[in-house]
Amino acid sequence: MDLVRRAPPLAGPAASPQQGPGLALYIHWPFCLAKCPYCDFNSHVRERIPQVRFAQALRTELATEAARLGRRPLASIFFGGGTPSLMEPSSVAALIEDACRLFEPMPDLEITLEANPTSVELGRLRGFREAGVNRVSLGVQSLEDDALRTLGRAHSGFEAVAALELARSIFPRISFDLIYARPGQTVAAWQSELDRALELAADHLSLYQLTIEPGTKFEALHRQGLLAMPDEELGAALYEETAAVAARHGLLGYEVSNYARPGSESRHNLAYWRYGDYVGIGPGAHGRITLPDANGTSAIFATRRHRAPEPWAERVERLGHGSTEETRLRAPEPEREMLLMGLRLSEGIDADRFAARTGTALVDALEPEILEAAIEAEYLRWHEGCLIPTQAGRLRLEALLGALVR
Ligand code: SF4
Repeated sequence: MDLVRRAPPLAGPAASPQQGPGLALYIHWPFCLAKCPYCDFNSHVRERIPQVRFAQALRTELATEAARLGRRPLASIFFGGGTPSLMEPSSVAALIEDACRLFEPMPDLEITLEANPTSVELGRLRGFREAGVNRVSLGVQSLEDDALRTLGRAHSGFEAVAALELARSIFPRISFDLIYARPGQTVAAWQSELDRALELAADHLSLYQLTIEPGTKFEALHRQGLLAMPDEELGAALYEETAAVAARHGLLGYEVSNYARPGSESRHNLAYWRYGDYVGIGPGAHGRITLPDANGTSAIFATRRHRAPEPWAERVERLGHGSTEETRLRAPEPEREMLLMGLRLSEGIDADRFAARTGTALVDALEPEILEAAIEAEYLRWHEGCLIPTQAGRLRLEALLGALVR
């Protein structure tokens, strides 16, 4: 089944040619209760989490960033991590209040917070809702106890289901993550687990294939031959099955790893994939923002904060921000970035918007022979001025982009 052909236009405010529909604000909380063996995110374990200091530093950095950006329309706020459900709800409330005062909140402002299904964090869910969070994203990862143990997660399958039910009773929108292509997993076992998960009636799911990331415990085990990963063929079969099961439950794959009921797509993540403006606050957070350059010409800047939590906080306390890098992107960087992000989406890339955002015609950013061959092989297609990856194309996206993008 070609999900791309069936996918309706995505929800969310229409993208404006330059910066996107409104600003997306990402807030990074870098602490976790334990380090999962597959995780290469910027997450850290501390005996005692310095709540007050980090909440204050985040507020300071947000104010500094807002002072130079001005009162731009704000489309979304996303509390990610790490484990932001370890934050005090009062800190989340203060950051939301600051953001809504410093920027111009759009009427349907989406405010997401990532949470883990452990009892410590679940006790705070109502507090997060009262703080203004209207969408929760639960790190379920699996409904199987054995798999959860292998993944080093602190919750059971039973607790995951209880967490989803509780979240559903509190938040208007919920999403959860599952990890598949796990060691020893068969297509039949994944199909049954995913079916059960989809009956839990989330409006959005992120379904990630397990990958071995450098520097993780899983990488060491894999190197020693102690962790057998599914081969490419099984990985592809699992991906196909994922899309088919999700579609049976009314969720369409609008991005390589993300599935939603029409209208329930993550507006925040769409800002990344559509290459709109986003601001990242907190240790290691990245941003892409449009600002005037030294000559007053509008340009896209890449921003990055210090990755280590304590040095980041010290920098913020000293300078008002924890930035270590701010680079004006020049051709072909914005073109490459917009292609790498946009071709992950089932809606593909709008050629007019690409030209308005980067100053380059879409076809000029692509290798012509590879584009022709990819269309011939039905990995890509043109539709109403958009270049769209088919389901088969999205399965081979990395290899395709490697050759296609100039
Ligand atoms: S809880 Fe999430 S961010 Fe923290 S270590 Fe585990 S996977 Fe990484």
